[in-house]
Parts: sequence; structure tokens; C-alpha cells
Amino acid sequence: MDSALVYLLLLAGVAIGWGFGYRFARQSKPPEPDWIPNVELLLAEANDVALERFLNVPQLDDDALDLLLKLGRSLREKGEADRAIHLHQSLFARTDLPKHSMQALELELAVDYAHAGLLDRAERLFLELLDSKGRVQEKAAFALVELYEEEGDWQQILDLHQRKKLPSDDTIARRVAHAACEMAEQARQQDDFLELHKLCKRALKVDPHCARAWVVQGDLAHVQGELREAVRCYLRAVDVDGQAIIHTLEPMVDCFRQLQDLDGLERYLGQHWRDTHYVPALIAQLECEAEQGDASAAISQLLQELTTQPSNQGFFALVELVMRHRQQLDKSQLLVVYGILRRIVESEPRFVCNHCGFKATEPHWRCPSCKSWSTLGSFVPQPPVARLKL
Ligand SMILES: [Zn+2]
Repeated sequence: MDSALVYLLLLAGVAIGWGFGYRFARQSKPPEPDWIPNVELLLAEANDVALERFLNVPQLDDDALDLLLKLGRSLREKGEADRAIHLHQSLFARTDLPKHSMQALELELAVDYAHAGLLDRAERLFLELLDSKGRVQEKAAFALVELYEEEGDWQQILDLHQRKKLPSDDTIARRVAHAACEMAEQARQQDDFLELHKLCKRALKVDPHCARAWVVQGDLAHVQGELREAVRCYLRAVDVDGQAIIHTLEPMVDCFRQLQDLDGLERYLGQHWRDTHYVPALIAQLECEAEQGDASAAISQLLQELTTQPSNQGFFALVELVMRHRQQLDKSQLLVVYGILRRIVESEPRFVCNHCGFKATEPHWRCPSCKSWSTLGSFVPQPPVARLKL
């Protein structure tokens, strides 16, 4: 799909580009009769000749330049960074282009360098472009942050933000906050806890919804045995971003257990389950309840929750609870289990397209997704590694 798009773009770009080249060529000198543009020419070595021809036309208007930029991008996306660099460098060497075009070119060249792994050169150009304005500045800022992220150079991101070189934008704020959190985790490795707190504070100032800053501080308190402080931080994390539960659930359970506050844990998890319907929170809550001696009540509740919201994860937890606490299900409970299991199985895909991977619950001769004929076969789930710990 993607390669088809690039191919089309390339074809369109070159076809129209050829039109321009032809027009310009005709203005200066008659075209050579043996030069016929086609796809083979475009994709073969001879295409370089065509490219040189575009590049050497005496005057490029905005449309022609735009097409050349598109062609450059297509080359880059095809993995031909060298040719893209050559194209952009040749254009960049021209003296007749207006300033905004030069900046657009510089940006393309910087992206080429980044693709080709010439990161120092890419960085230098992106930094230059940070002083420009508008879309080019914004794109350069995004690309530069991405480059530093790839390199793990978090300090550079914080510096750019400090120097007000980055656009004020939610995604940038999130990235800056994560850069600060990355550095906070490094500070923790070096036992520099003061620095850790400073960096977390900074992350939260940039992005008040950065739950990770609370998680990092909670993790520190957790390993230092300051359990109430850890719980406070984890609660704040989930306050600022509900999704953070996936990072806080396990350490939270551990903190409450160490504090021997199973009632508190149960209340918290129960509330969380009602608010978010995050299945592991329910499972942890019922496990807690069962441990406190009321295994059969926990099983009844899980059965009831599974009836309204059936899930494999919940069903697995049910079997675990029953086995671990040596419980037995009565006949009516078994009927409920049967009903739950049937609904889970019914919602599972039974057929899969061998061409595009589309999963279906009914058989089709023609794949509803990729429209291929006779490509649907039976779906065989990959059996996961057994991990029943009892
Ligand atoms: Zn398909």
C-alpha cells in the first residue's frame, strides 16, 4: 500500500516534472529526440540524466521547485537517500531561489542527512532552521527533538526548551516532560535524588499531565521504604492521567501489602475498577478479598462482573482463583461460566485472511478488507507459553 503510494507519487511527480523540463528545455534549446520519459527511465540509472536536466533549467518557478521537492522526498522514502541528497544539494547551490524556498530545501536536506545516518550534519541544519519562522521552524523543531530522542540526548531537548526554541504545543510539552523523566531516571541510577526530584518537578511544570514524573518519584520512595509517600505519588500519577494505572498497579499493591493495609487496597482497587474497568485492578481486588478469607464471595463477584464484561483475562483469573483457593463451583455457577465462555468464544475470530491478516468471525469468499478472493482460511491462535503459577 505504502510503496504503491510512493510509486504513484514518483510517477506523477516525474511526469509533471518532465512537462516542466520539457517546457523549459524548449524555451532554451530543442529537446533531444532520443529522450523519452517513462517509468523504466525513471527507475533506471538513466534517470540521473533526466534529473540533471531538471536541475539545470535556467529558471525554476515555485511549482517546478515544489515538484522537485516532492521527487526528492519520494527518492528518500524509497531509501535512495544519496540521490535525494544530490538533488537537494544541487538545488541548494543555486543562487536564484527566494529565501523561503532555500529554507524549505535546507529542511529537506537535513531530513535526508538524518535518513542517511549523517546525524551531525542533520543536527547542524535543523539548529540553523530553528531561527526561521512558520512551518519550516516547527518541522525543524519536531525533527530535532526526534533526532535527540533517538540518540538519547535528553539534555539537548531540555536546553532547547529552556532557550524557548521549541513551539509551544501539547505534543512538544509531553516530549520535553519525558526527556526530563528520562534524565530523572538516570539521576536515580547515580543516587542523585535531589536532582531526580528537581527534574520531576520540571517535567510537571512543562506538562502537568506527565504521570511518569509521579511514577518516578513513587518508585524512588518505594525502594527507599517510604511506602506512604510512594502511595501518595502513585495516586497522584493516576490522578493526572488515568492510563498510568498500568505502571502503578503492581507497585501500589506491593506498598499496601507491606503497609498491611489490605482493606485500603481493596477499597482503592474496587473504586478503580468501577471508574475505569481495568481488568487487572478487579483481579487484584478479588485476589485481595480471597486472601482475607472470603474466596467464595470473590468468585461470585468475579462471575457477576464477567457476565456483564466477559474477557479472557478475567476468565483466566477466575480459574486461578478457583484453583488457588481450592474452591468448587456449584451447578448454577457452572452454567454462568458456560455462558461467559460461549460469549468469549463467539467474539473470537475464527477466520483469517492469508493475504492481509484481516480477522473475521464469519467465512467470506472475498476478504472484506483487501478484497482478495479465496484468501480466508481458519484462524489458528498461536498458543502462548503456559504460565499458570499455583
Ligand atoms: Zn485480506
